[in-house]
Amino acid sequence: MRVTNADVIIVGAGPTGLMLAGELRLAGAAPLVLERGPGLRETQKANGLGGQILELLRYRGLLDRFEAACTGPVHPAPRFPFGGVHVDLSPLADPPLWGLTLPQPRLERLLDERARELGADIRRGHEVAGVTQDDDTVTADVRGPDGPYRVTARYLVGCDGPRSRVRDSAGIPFSGITHPEVNRLAQVTVPESVPRFDNGDLDVPGLGRVRAAEFTRTDRGVFGLGWLTPEVAMVYTTEDETTEYDDDMPMTLPEFQDSVARVLGVSFPVAEVLRLSRFTFQARQADRYREGRILLAGDAAHLFPSTGVALNAGMLDTVNLAWKLAADLHGWAPTGLLDTYHDERHRAGARTLLHTQAQVALRRGQDPAADALRELFVELFADEQPLRRLGALIAGADIRYPLPNPNQHAMTGTFAPDLTLRTDQGTTSVAELLHTARPVLLVLGDRQDLHETARDWRHRVDVHTATTDHRPADALLIRPDAHVAWAATTDEPTDTAAPALRDALSTWFGTPLRTTVPTGRP
Ligand SMILES: Cc1cc2nc3c(=O)[nH]c(=O)nc-3n(C[C@H](O)[C@H](O)[C@H](O)COP(=O)(O)OP(=O)(O)OC[C@H]3O[C@@H](n4cnc5c(N)ncnc54)[C@H](O)[C@@H]3O)c2cc1C
Repeated sequence: MRVTNADVIIVGAGPTGLMLAGELRLAGAAPLVLERGPGLRETQKANGLGGQILELLRYRGLLDRFEAACTGPVHPAPRFPFGGVHVDLSPLADPPLWGLTLPQPRLERLLDERARELGADIRRGHEVAGVTQDDDTVTADVRGPDGPYRVTARYLVGCDGPRSRVRDSAGIPFSGITHPEVNRLAQVTVPESVPRFDNGDLDVPGLGRVRAAEFTRTDRGVFGLGWLTPEVAMVYTTEDETTEYDDDMPMTLPEFQDSVARVLGVSFPVAEVLRLSRFTFQARQADRYREGRILLAGDAAHLFPSTGVALNAGMLDTVNLAWKLAADLHGWAPTGLLDTYHDERHRAGARTLLHTQAQVALRRGQDPAADALRELFVELFADEQPLRRLGALIAGADIRYPLPNPNQHAMTGTFAPDLTLRTDQGTTSVAELLHTARPVLLVLGDRQDLHETARDWRHRVDVHTATTDHRPADALLIRPDAHVAWAATTDEPTDTAAPALRDALSTWFGTPLRTTVPTGRP
Protein backbone atom coordinates (compact mmCIF):
# COMPACT_ATOMS: atom_id res chain seq x y z
CA MET A 1 0.00 0.00 0.00
CA ARG A 2 1.28 3.48 -0.88
CA VAL A 3 2.06 5.80 2.02
CA THR A 4 2.28 9.58 1.64
CA ASN A 5 2.97 12.34 4.14
CA ALA A 6 1.47 15.74 4.88
CA ASP A 7 1.68 18.35 7.65
CA VAL A 8 -2.04 18.26 8.31
CA ILE A 9 -4.74 16.03 6.84
CA ILE A 10 -8.09 17.75 6.48
CA VAL A 11 -10.99 15.33 6.06
CA GLY A 12 -13.82 16.99 4.10
CA ALA A 13 -13.88 19.81 1.56
CA GLY A 14 -17.02 21.56 2.77
CA PRO A 15 -16.79 25.24 3.75
CA THR A 16 -14.97 24.36 6.98
CA GLY A 17 -12.29 22.15 5.43
CA LEU A 18 -11.65 24.55 2.55
CA MET A 19 -11.40 27.60 4.81
CA LEU A 20 -8.99 25.71 7.06
CA ALA A 21 -6.86 24.76 4.07
CA GLY A 22 -6.50 28.42 3.05
CA GLU A 23 -5.73 29.61 6.57
CA LEU A 24 -3.12 26.85 7.04
CA ARG A 25 -1.41 27.86 3.82
CA LEU A 26 -1.32 31.49 4.98
CA ALA A 27 0.34 30.26 8.17
CA GLY A 28 2.96 28.37 6.15
CA ALA A 29 1.71 24.79 6.69
CA ALA A 30 1.02 22.18 3.98
CA PRO A 31 -2.46 20.72 4.29
CA LEU A 32 -3.80 17.77 2.32
CA VAL A 33 -7.58 17.90 1.89
CA LEU A 34 -9.31 14.54 1.33
CA GLU A 35 -12.89 14.77 0.08
CA ARG A 36 -14.99 11.72 -0.74
CA GLY A 37 -17.24 13.55 -3.23
CA PRO A 38 -16.00 13.49 -6.83
CA GLY A 39 -16.35 17.23 -7.53
CA LEU A 40 -17.57 20.54 -6.20
CA ARG A 41 -21.05 20.12 -4.67
CA GLU A 42 -24.19 21.66 -6.10
CA THR A 43 -26.45 20.76 -3.15
CA GLN A 44 -28.58 23.70 -2.05
CA LYS A 45 -27.89 24.28 1.59
CA ALA A 46 -27.12 27.72 3.00
CA ASN A 47 -28.29 30.61 0.88
CA GLY A 48 -25.96 33.11 2.47
CA LEU A 49 -23.17 33.92 4.84
CA GLY A 50 -23.46 36.24 7.81
CA GLY A 51 -21.89 37.14 11.13
CA GLN A 52 -18.37 37.89 12.22
CA ILE A 53 -16.79 35.70 9.54
CA LEU A 54 -17.55 38.53 7.10
CA GLU A 55 -15.40 40.89 9.15
CA LEU A 56 -12.67 38.26 9.20
CA LEU A 57 -12.88 37.86 5.42
CA ARG A 58 -12.50 41.63 5.15
CA TYR A 59 -9.45 41.44 7.44
CA ARG A 60 -8.00 38.90 4.98
CA GLY A 61 -8.70 41.17 2.01
CA LEU A 62 -11.24 38.71 0.61
CA LEU A 63 -14.58 40.39 1.17
CA ASP A 64 -14.72 42.18 -2.20
CA ARG A 65 -14.22 38.87 -3.96
CA PHE A 66 -17.03 37.25 -1.98
CA GLU A 67 -19.32 40.21 -2.56
CA ALA A 68 -18.66 40.03 -6.29
CA ALA A 69 -19.94 36.42 -6.30
CA CYS A 70 -23.23 37.25 -4.56
CA THR A 71 -26.47 36.36 -6.31
CA GLY A 72 -28.61 38.89 -4.46
CA PRO A 73 -28.37 41.88 -2.18
CA VAL A 74 -24.90 42.28 -0.72
CA HIS A 75 -26.15 43.52 2.62
CA PRO A 76 -29.77 42.34 2.68
CA ALA A 77 -32.14 44.26 4.91
CA PRO A 78 -31.12 43.10 8.36
CA ARG A 79 -34.46 41.50 9.11
CA PHE A 80 -34.44 37.88 10.19
CA PRO A 81 -36.49 35.32 12.08
CA PHE A 82 -35.39 34.68 15.64
CA GLY A 83 -37.29 31.67 16.89
CA GLY A 84 -40.63 32.61 15.42
CA VAL A 85 -40.20 36.32 16.10
CA HIS A 86 -39.25 38.64 13.26
CA VAL A 87 -36.37 40.84 14.35
CA ASP A 88 -35.74 44.07 12.48
CA LEU A 89 -32.25 45.54 12.78
CA SER A 90 -32.86 48.19 10.13
CA PRO A 91 -33.47 50.98 12.70
CA LEU A 92 -29.81 50.64 13.74
CA ALA A 93 -27.39 52.91 11.87
CA ASP A 94 -24.57 50.33 12.08
CA PRO A 95 -26.25 46.94 12.60
CA PRO A 96 -24.01 44.38 14.33
CA LEU A 97 -25.24 41.65 12.00
CA TRP A 98 -25.36 41.63 8.23
CA GLY A 99 -25.05 39.07 5.47
CA LEU A 100 -24.24 38.17 1.90
CA THR A 101 -26.60 36.35 -0.44
CA LEU A 102 -24.11 33.68 -1.43
CA PRO A 103 -25.47 30.19 -2.08
CA GLN A 104 -23.31 27.47 -0.56
CA PRO A 105 -22.11 25.96 -3.87
CA ARG A 106 -20.70 29.39 -4.82
CA LEU A 107 -19.16 29.81 -1.39
CA GLU A 108 -17.45 26.42 -1.67
CA ARG A 109 -16.17 27.27 -5.15
CA LEU A 110 -14.63 30.52 -3.87
CA LEU A 111 -13.02 28.82 -0.88
CA ASP A 112 -11.71 26.03 -3.11
CA GLU A 113 -10.18 28.57 -5.53
CA ARG A 114 -8.59 30.52 -2.72
CA ALA A 115 -7.09 27.45 -1.04
CA ARG A 116 -5.67 26.22 -4.36
CA GLU A 117 -4.22 29.64 -5.20
CA LEU A 118 -2.37 29.48 -1.90
CA GLY A 119 -1.05 26.03 -2.80
CA ALA A 120 -3.32 23.61 -0.91
CA ASP A 121 -3.48 20.02 -2.18
CA ILE A 122 -7.20 19.15 -2.51
CA ARG A 123 -8.05 15.61 -3.60
CA ARG A 124 -11.65 14.82 -4.51
CA GLY A 125 -12.96 11.29 -4.77
CA HIS A 126 -10.75 10.25 -1.83
CA GLU A 127 -12.72 8.84 1.09
CA VAL A 128 -11.18 8.47 4.52
CA ALA A 129 -12.16 4.99 5.72
CA GLY A 130 -10.45 5.06 9.11
CA VAL A 131 -8.16 7.10 11.33
CA THR A 132 -5.59 5.96 13.90
CA GLN A 133 -3.01 7.85 15.93
CA ASP A 134 0.03 7.31 18.13
CA ASP A 135 2.15 9.76 20.08
CA ASP A 136 3.87 11.22 17.02
CA THR A 137 1.60 10.85 14.02
CA VAL A 138 -1.93 10.32 12.81
CA THR A 139 -2.74 8.00 9.92
CA ALA A 140 -5.71 8.01 7.56
CA ASP A 141 -6.69 4.97 5.51
CA VAL A 142 -7.97 6.34 2.23
CA ARG A 143 -10.01 4.84 -0.61
CA GLY A 144 -8.96 6.78 -3.70
CA PRO A 145 -9.83 6.45 -7.40
CA ASP A 146 -6.67 4.35 -7.91
CA GLY A 147 -7.22 2.13 -4.90
CA PRO A 148 -6.52 2.26 -1.19
CA TYR A 149 -3.56 4.13 0.28
CA ARG A 150 -2.42 5.53 3.58
CA VAL A 151 -1.44 9.09 4.59
CA THR A 152 0.43 10.03 7.73
CA ALA A 153 0.65 13.51 9.18
CA ARG A 154 1.38 15.32 12.41
CA TYR A 155 -2.28 16.33 12.78
CA LEU A 156 -5.65 15.51 11.26
CA VAL A 157 -8.72 17.75 11.38
CA GLY A 158 -12.19 16.27 10.94
CA CYS A 159 -14.19 18.74 8.86
CA ASP A 160 -16.38 15.87 7.71
CA GLY A 161 -19.78 17.15 8.75
CA PRO A 162 -22.50 16.01 11.15
CA ARG A 163 -21.95 12.25 10.77
CA SER A 164 -18.19 12.64 11.22
CA ARG A 165 -16.27 9.39 10.92
CA VAL A 166 -13.23 11.18 12.31
CA ARG A 167 -15.14 12.09 15.47
CA ASP A 168 -16.26 8.50 15.91
CA SER A 169 -12.75 7.15 15.27
CA ALA A 170 -11.38 9.48 17.93
CA GLY A 171 -14.06 8.30 20.37
CA ILE A 172 -15.39 11.81 20.98
CA PRO A 173 -19.05 11.84 22.14
CA PHE A 174 -21.44 14.13 20.24
CA SER A 175 -23.82 14.96 23.05
CA GLY A 176 -27.20 16.60 22.50
CA ILE A 177 -30.64 16.05 21.05
CA THR A 178 -32.48 15.91 17.75
CA HIS A 179 -35.58 18.09 17.63
CA PRO A 180 -38.55 16.27 16.09
CA GLU A 181 -39.22 18.89 13.44
CA VAL A 182 -38.66 19.27 9.72
CA ASN A 183 -38.36 22.65 8.00
CA ARG A 184 -38.97 23.13 4.32
CA LEU A 185 -38.05 26.26 2.42
CA ALA A 186 -38.90 27.30 -1.12
CA GLN A 187 -37.95 30.35 -3.13
CA VAL A 188 -40.61 30.81 -5.75
CA THR A 189 -42.40 33.32 -7.91
CA VAL A 190 -46.16 33.59 -7.49
CA PRO A 191 -48.61 33.66 -10.44
CA GLU A 192 -49.74 37.19 -11.32
CA SER A 193 -53.34 36.04 -10.92
CA VAL A 194 -52.87 35.80 -7.13
CA PRO A 195 -53.88 39.15 -5.56
CA ARG A 196 -51.08 40.81 -3.60
CA PHE A 197 -51.50 43.58 -1.05
CA ASP A 198 -49.14 46.58 -0.82
CA ASN A 199 -47.41 45.16 2.27
CA GLY A 200 -46.71 41.82 0.56
CA ASP A 201 -49.64 39.85 2.03
CA LEU A 202 -51.20 37.42 -0.44
CA ASP A 203 -54.83 36.48 -1.04
CA VAL A 204 -54.38 32.71 -1.39
CA PRO A 205 -57.23 30.89 -3.18
CA GLY A 206 -59.25 28.74 -0.76
CA LEU A 207 -57.66 30.37 2.28
CA GLY A 208 -57.81 34.16 2.13
CA ARG A 209 -55.23 36.67 3.29
CA VAL A 210 -51.84 35.19 4.27
CA ARG A 211 -49.60 37.67 6.06
CA ALA A 212 -46.06 38.34 4.88
CA ALA A 213 -43.28 38.66 7.47
CA GLU A 214 -45.40 36.84 10.04
CA PHE A 215 -45.66 33.22 11.00
CA THR A 216 -49.05 31.55 10.60
CA ARG A 217 -49.50 28.84 13.25
CA THR A 218 -51.98 26.03 12.73
CA ASP A 219 -52.63 22.74 14.54
CA ARG A 220 -50.30 21.01 12.06
CA GLY A 221 -47.33 23.36 12.06
CA VAL A 222 -46.06 26.78 11.10
CA PHE A 223 -46.20 28.55 7.75
CA GLY A 224 -44.10 31.59 6.86
CA LEU A 225 -44.13 33.94 3.89
CA GLY A 226 -41.56 36.64 3.12
CA TRP A 227 -40.21 38.46 0.08
CA LEU A 228 -36.57 38.10 -0.87
CA THR A 229 -36.98 40.60 -3.70
CA PRO A 230 -40.18 42.22 -5.04
CA GLU A 231 -40.62 39.16 -7.30
CA VAL A 232 -39.22 36.26 -5.28
CA ALA A 233 -41.13 34.88 -2.30
CA MET A 234 -39.61 32.75 0.48
CA VAL A 235 -42.17 30.23 1.63
CA TYR A 236 -41.51 28.14 4.68
CA THR A 237 -43.12 25.34 6.67
CA THR A 238 -42.25 23.65 9.94
CA GLU A 239 -43.87 20.38 11.01
CA ASP A 240 -43.32 17.97 13.83
CA GLU A 241 -41.80 14.89 12.23
CA THR A 242 -39.23 12.35 13.33
CA THR A 243 -38.07 11.21 9.87
CA GLU A 244 -34.28 11.36 9.43
CA TYR A 245 -33.55 12.97 6.07
CA ASP A 246 -30.18 13.03 4.37
CA ASP A 247 -29.18 16.68 3.79
CA ASP A 248 -27.73 15.73 0.43
CA MET A 249 -31.11 14.32 -0.80
CA PRO A 250 -32.85 17.29 -2.45
CA MET A 251 -36.49 18.11 -1.72
CA THR A 252 -39.01 18.00 -4.56
CA LEU A 253 -41.84 20.46 -5.27
CA PRO A 254 -44.54 17.82 -4.53
CA GLU A 255 -42.93 17.15 -1.13
CA PHE A 256 -43.05 20.87 -0.39
CA GLN A 257 -46.64 21.32 -1.60
CA ASP A 258 -47.77 18.32 0.49
CA SER A 259 -46.24 19.97 3.52
CA VAL A 260 -47.98 23.32 2.84
CA ALA A 261 -51.25 21.46 2.32
CA ARG A 262 -50.87 19.69 5.67
CA VAL A 263 -50.10 22.95 7.52
CA LEU A 264 -52.46 25.38 5.76
CA GLY A 265 -55.06 23.02 4.31
CA VAL A 266 -54.51 24.38 0.77
CA SER A 267 -51.63 24.29 -1.67
CA PHE A 268 -49.52 27.38 -2.32
CA PRO A 269 -49.72 28.93 -5.79
CA VAL A 270 -46.33 28.68 -7.50
CA ALA A 271 -45.33 30.01 -10.94
CA GLU A 272 -41.63 29.16 -10.94
CA VAL A 273 -39.39 27.37 -8.46
CA LEU A 274 -35.97 28.91 -7.89
CA ARG A 275 -34.74 26.88 -4.96
CA LEU A 276 -35.98 24.14 -2.64
CA SER A 277 -34.36 22.97 0.56
CA ARG A 278 -35.20 20.98 3.64
CA PHE A 279 -33.47 20.99 7.00
CA THR A 280 -33.82 19.33 10.34
CA PHE A 281 -32.50 20.57 13.64
CA GLN A 282 -30.16 19.03 16.15
CA ALA A 283 -28.53 20.65 19.15
CA ARG A 284 -25.23 18.85 19.60
CA GLN A 285 -21.66 19.64 20.51
CA ALA A 286 -18.61 17.41 20.57
CA ASP A 287 -17.47 16.95 24.17
CA ARG A 288 -13.89 17.68 23.09
CA TYR A 289 -12.59 19.46 20.00
CA ARG A 290 -9.22 17.73 20.38
CA GLU A 291 -8.20 14.17 21.08
CA GLY A 292 -4.42 13.88 20.81
CA ARG A 293 -3.47 14.63 17.21
CA ILE A 294 -7.07 14.68 15.98
CA LEU A 295 -9.15 17.85 16.01
CA LEU A 296 -12.70 18.69 14.96
CA ALA A 297 -14.19 21.79 13.33
CA GLY A 298 -17.47 22.89 11.75
CA ASP A 299 -20.53 20.64 11.69
CA ALA A 300 -18.38 17.74 12.91
CA ALA A 301 -17.96 19.69 16.15
CA HIS A 302 -21.37 21.33 16.54
CA LEU A 303 -24.91 21.36 15.21
CA PHE A 304 -27.27 24.21 16.03
CA PRO A 305 -31.07 23.99 16.09
CA SER A 306 -31.72 27.27 14.25
CA THR A 307 -30.63 28.52 10.89
CA GLY A 308 -28.11 31.12 9.71
CA VAL A 309 -25.23 30.56 12.16
CA ALA A 310 -23.51 27.26 11.34
CA LEU A 311 -21.20 28.47 8.56
CA ASN A 312 -20.11 31.42 10.64
CA ALA A 313 -19.27 29.19 13.60
CA GLY A 314 -17.46 26.55 11.54
CA MET A 315 -15.36 28.93 9.46
CA LEU A 316 -14.39 30.91 12.56
CA ASP A 317 -13.27 27.64 14.20
CA THR A 318 -10.71 27.22 11.45
CA VAL A 319 -9.38 30.76 11.75
CA ASN A 320 -8.73 30.10 15.43
CA LEU A 321 -7.16 26.71 14.79
CA ALA A 322 -4.91 27.23 11.75
CA TRP A 323 -2.19 29.48 13.19
CA LYS A 324 -1.98 27.39 16.35
CA LEU A 325 -1.52 24.18 14.35
CA ALA A 326 1.09 25.89 12.18
CA ALA A 327 2.95 27.16 15.26
CA ASP A 328 3.12 23.60 16.53
CA LEU A 329 4.30 22.28 13.17
CA HIS A 330 6.99 24.97 12.97
CA GLY A 331 8.18 24.01 16.41
CA TRP A 332 7.61 27.30 18.25
CA ALA A 333 4.18 26.77 19.82
CA PRO A 334 4.26 27.53 23.53
CA THR A 335 3.06 24.71 25.78
CA GLY A 336 -0.70 24.44 25.74
CA LEU A 337 -1.25 26.70 22.71
CA LEU A 338 -3.13 24.04 20.72
CA ASP A 339 -5.39 23.24 23.66
CA THR A 340 -6.65 26.82 23.64
CA TYR A 341 -8.47 25.88 20.42
CA HIS A 342 -10.89 23.74 22.41
CA ASP A 343 -11.08 26.23 25.27
CA GLU A 344 -11.97 29.13 23.01
CA ARG A 345 -14.06 27.58 20.27
CA HIS A 346 -15.98 25.15 22.47
CA ARG A 347 -17.03 28.18 24.49
CA ALA A 348 -18.05 30.02 21.30
CA GLY A 349 -20.03 26.96 20.14
CA ALA A 350 -21.77 26.73 23.51
CA ARG A 351 -22.81 30.36 23.21
CA THR A 352 -24.27 29.74 19.77
CA LEU A 353 -26.09 26.71 21.17
CA LEU A 354 -27.48 28.93 23.92
CA HIS A 355 -29.31 31.29 21.59
CA THR A 356 -30.28 28.68 19.01
CA GLN A 357 -31.79 26.50 21.77
CA ALA A 358 -33.63 29.55 23.10
CA GLN A 359 -34.99 30.02 19.58
CA VAL A 360 -36.36 26.47 19.65
CA ALA A 361 -38.34 27.27 22.81
CA LEU A 362 -39.66 30.46 21.23
CA ARG A 363 -40.45 28.78 17.93
CA ARG A 364 -42.01 25.52 19.07
CA GLY A 365 -44.18 26.70 21.95
CA GLN A 366 -47.83 26.37 20.92
CA ASP A 367 -49.77 27.49 23.99
CA PRO A 368 -50.86 30.96 25.20
CA ALA A 369 -47.78 31.14 27.45
CA ALA A 370 -45.53 30.72 24.39
CA ASP A 371 -47.55 33.38 22.54
CA ALA A 372 -46.99 35.71 25.50
CA LEU A 373 -43.25 34.98 25.45
CA ARG A 374 -43.04 35.79 21.74
CA GLU A 375 -45.01 38.99 22.27
CA LEU A 376 -42.65 39.99 25.05
CA PHE A 377 -39.62 39.41 22.80
CA VAL A 378 -41.19 41.58 20.10
CA GLU A 379 -41.50 44.35 22.68
CA LEU A 380 -37.91 43.93 23.87
CA PHE A 381 -36.55 44.01 20.34
CA ALA A 382 -38.19 47.37 19.73
CA ASP A 383 -35.45 48.90 21.93
CA GLU A 384 -31.97 49.63 20.64
CA GLN A 385 -29.91 48.03 23.40
CA PRO A 386 -31.46 44.52 23.34
CA LEU A 387 -31.48 44.67 19.54
CA ARG A 388 -27.75 45.41 19.47
CA ARG A 389 -27.02 42.72 21.99
CA LEU A 390 -29.00 40.13 20.08
CA GLY A 391 -27.33 41.07 16.79
CA ALA A 392 -23.85 40.70 18.31
CA LEU A 393 -24.81 37.38 19.91
CA ILE A 394 -26.02 35.94 16.60
CA ALA A 395 -22.99 37.31 14.76
CA GLY A 396 -20.74 35.52 17.24
CA ALA A 397 -19.20 38.92 17.95
CA ASP A 398 -19.86 39.08 21.67
CA ILE A 399 -17.32 36.39 22.55
CA ARG A 400 -14.48 37.29 24.89
CA TYR A 401 -12.00 34.44 24.93
CA PRO A 402 -10.78 33.44 28.38
CA LEU A 403 -7.16 34.47 27.83
CA PRO A 404 -4.46 33.59 30.35
CA ASN A 405 -2.72 36.37 32.23
CA PRO A 406 -5.72 38.64 31.85
CA ASN A 407 -4.87 42.29 32.32
CA GLN A 408 -7.40 44.91 33.12
CA HIS A 409 -7.88 46.07 29.58
CA ALA A 410 -11.41 45.40 28.37
CA MET A 411 -10.20 44.61 24.83
CA THR A 412 -8.19 41.49 25.70
CA GLY A 413 -9.84 38.38 24.28
CA THR A 414 -12.13 40.37 21.96
CA PHE A 415 -12.08 40.81 18.17
CA ALA A 416 -9.78 43.73 17.32
CA PRO A 417 -11.72 46.73 16.00
CA ASP A 418 -10.83 47.97 12.53
CA LEU A 419 -9.10 51.21 13.54
CA THR A 420 -8.01 53.64 10.85
CA LEU A 421 -4.27 54.09 11.32
CA ARG A 422 -1.93 56.91 10.30
CA THR A 423 1.66 55.79 9.83
CA ASP A 424 4.82 57.29 8.31
CA GLN A 425 4.01 55.32 5.15
CA GLY A 426 0.43 56.64 4.90
CA THR A 427 -3.01 55.61 6.05
CA THR A 428 -3.81 51.99 6.73
CA SER A 429 -6.10 49.99 9.02
CA VAL A 430 -6.09 47.03 11.36
CA ALA A 431 -7.89 45.04 8.64
CA GLU A 432 -5.08 45.70 6.15
CA LEU A 433 -2.39 44.74 8.64
CA LEU A 434 -4.04 41.33 9.09
CA HIS A 435 -4.22 40.39 5.38
CA THR A 436 -1.16 38.16 5.81
CA ALA A 437 -2.48 36.56 9.01
CA ARG A 438 0.70 37.33 10.93
CA PRO A 439 0.65 38.45 14.57
CA VAL A 440 0.76 42.23 14.96
CA LEU A 441 1.94 44.49 17.75
CA LEU A 442 0.32 47.84 17.11
CA VAL A 443 1.92 50.63 19.10
CA LEU A 444 -0.46 53.57 19.24
CA GLY A 445 1.27 55.75 21.80
CA ASP A 446 4.79 57.15 22.05
CA ARG A 447 6.08 53.93 23.64
CA GLN A 448 9.72 53.22 22.91
CA ASP A 449 9.68 50.89 25.95
CA LEU A 450 7.18 48.56 24.21
CA HIS A 451 9.14 48.60 20.95
CA GLU A 452 12.19 47.63 22.93
CA THR A 453 10.33 44.77 24.65
CA ALA A 454 9.00 43.38 21.37
CA ARG A 455 12.34 43.52 19.57
CA ASP A 456 13.18 39.89 20.31
CA TRP A 457 9.96 38.63 18.71
CA ARG A 458 10.32 40.58 15.45
CA HIS A 459 10.91 37.37 13.50
CA ARG A 460 7.40 36.26 14.43
CA VAL A 461 5.43 39.42 15.23
CA ASP A 462 5.06 42.43 12.91
CA VAL A 463 5.47 45.65 14.87
CA HIS A 464 3.71 48.79 13.58
CA THR A 465 3.61 52.30 14.97
CA ALA A 466 0.58 54.43 14.19
CA THR A 467 -1.75 57.06 15.50
CA THR A 468 -5.51 56.76 15.51
CA ASP A 469 -8.46 58.84 16.59
CA HIS A 470 -9.82 58.05 20.04
CA ARG A 471 -6.86 55.76 20.85
CA PRO A 472 -8.37 52.83 22.78
CA ALA A 473 -5.02 51.64 24.18
CA ASP A 474 -1.30 52.49 24.07
CA ALA A 475 -0.64 49.19 22.29
CA LEU A 476 -2.53 46.15 21.04
CA LEU A 477 -1.04 42.70 20.53
CA ILE A 478 -3.26 41.08 17.90
CA ARG A 479 -3.24 37.36 17.10
CA PRO A 480 -3.57 36.12 13.50
CA ASP A 481 -7.25 35.35 14.17
CA ALA A 482 -7.76 39.08 14.87
CA HIS A 483 -8.26 38.64 18.61
CA VAL A 484 -6.50 40.92 21.05
CA ALA A 485 -4.00 38.92 23.11
CA TRP A 486 -2.93 41.86 25.24
CA ALA A 487 -3.42 45.61 25.45
CA ALA A 488 -1.65 48.41 27.32
CA THR A 489 -3.90 50.89 29.00
CA THR A 490 -3.35 54.52 28.07
CA ASP A 491 -0.21 55.86 29.75
CA GLU A 492 0.37 52.55 31.52
CA PRO A 493 3.73 52.73 33.35
CA THR A 494 6.62 50.79 31.84
CA ASP A 495 7.10 48.70 34.96
CA THR A 496 3.73 47.00 34.45
CA ALA A 497 3.30 47.31 30.66
CA ALA A 498 6.69 45.92 29.56
CA PRO A 499 6.63 42.71 31.66
CA ALA A 500 2.99 42.12 30.74
CA LEU A 501 3.81 42.48 27.03
CA ARG A 502 6.81 40.16 27.39
CA ASP A 503 4.59 37.62 29.14
CA ALA A 504 1.89 37.85 26.45
CA LEU A 505 4.46 37.52 23.65
CA SER A 506 5.92 34.41 25.30
CA THR A 507 2.50 32.95 26.02
CA TRP A 508 1.28 33.25 22.44
CA PHE A 509 4.34 33.47 20.23
CA GLY A 510 7.02 31.43 21.94
CA THR A 511 10.50 32.15 23.17
CA PRO A 512 12.32 35.33 22.08
CA LEU A 513 15.33 35.34 19.78
CA ARG A 514 17.95 36.44 22.32
CA THR A 515 17.01 36.34 25.96
CA THR A 516 15.64 33.38 27.84
CA VAL A 517 12.47 34.20 29.67
CA PRO A 518 9.98 31.95 31.44
CA THR A 519 7.37 30.79 28.91
CA GLY A 520 3.79 31.45 29.99
CA ARG A 521 1.31 28.62 29.87
CA PRO A 522 -1.91 29.38 27.95
C1 LIG B 1 -31.01 23.05 3.69
C2 LIG B 1 -29.91 23.61 4.52
C3 LIG B 1 -29.86 24.98 4.69
C4 LIG B 1 -28.84 25.54 5.46
N1 LIG B 1 -28.83 26.90 5.61
C5 LIG B 1 -27.82 27.46 6.30
C6 LIG B 1 -27.75 28.87 6.43
O1 LIG B 1 -28.59 29.62 5.94
N2 LIG B 1 -26.70 29.40 7.10
C7 LIG B 1 -25.73 28.61 7.65
O2 LIG B 1 -24.80 29.14 8.26
N3 LIG B 1 -25.78 27.28 7.54
C8 LIG B 1 -26.80 26.69 6.89
N4 LIG B 1 -26.85 25.33 6.78
C9 LIG B 1 -25.79 24.55 7.42
C10 LIG B 1 -24.52 24.52 6.55
O3 LIG B 1 -24.85 24.03 5.28
C11 LIG B 1 -23.50 23.62 7.25
O4 LIG B 1 -23.25 24.18 8.52
C12 LIG B 1 -22.18 23.53 6.47
O5 LIG B 1 -22.32 22.81 5.27
C13 LIG B 1 -21.14 22.83 7.34
O6 LIG B 1 -19.93 22.79 6.66
P1 LIG B 1 -18.82 21.68 7.00
O7 LIG B 1 -17.75 21.94 6.03
O8 LIG B 1 -18.52 21.74 8.45
O9 LIG B 1 -19.54 20.29 6.75
P2 LIG B 1 -20.18 19.71 5.42
O10 LIG B 1 -20.73 20.83 4.57
O11 LIG B 1 -21.11 18.65 5.86
O12 LIG B 1 -18.97 19.11 4.63
C14 LIG B 1 -18.37 17.91 5.03
C15 LIG B 1 -17.61 17.34 3.85
O13 LIG B 1 -16.91 16.20 4.30
C16 LIG B 1 -17.02 15.19 3.32
N5 LIG B 1 -16.81 13.90 4.00
C17 LIG B 1 -17.59 13.32 4.95
N6 LIG B 1 -17.06 12.16 5.35
C18 LIG B 1 -15.92 11.99 4.64
C19 LIG B 1 -14.93 10.97 4.62
N7 LIG B 1 -15.01 9.92 5.41
N8 LIG B 1 -13.87 11.11 3.77
C20 LIG B 1 -13.76 12.20 2.97
N9 LIG B 1 -14.69 13.19 2.95
C21 LIG B 1 -15.75 13.10 3.79
C22 LIG B 1 -18.41 15.37 2.77
O14 LIG B 1 -18.54 14.78 1.49
C23 LIG B 1 -18.53 16.88 2.72
O15 LIG B 1 -18.08 17.41 1.52
C24 LIG B 1 -27.86 24.73 6.05
C25 LIG B 1 -27.90 23.34 5.88
C26 LIG B 1 -28.93 22.79 5.12
C27 LIG B 1 -28.97 21.30 4.94
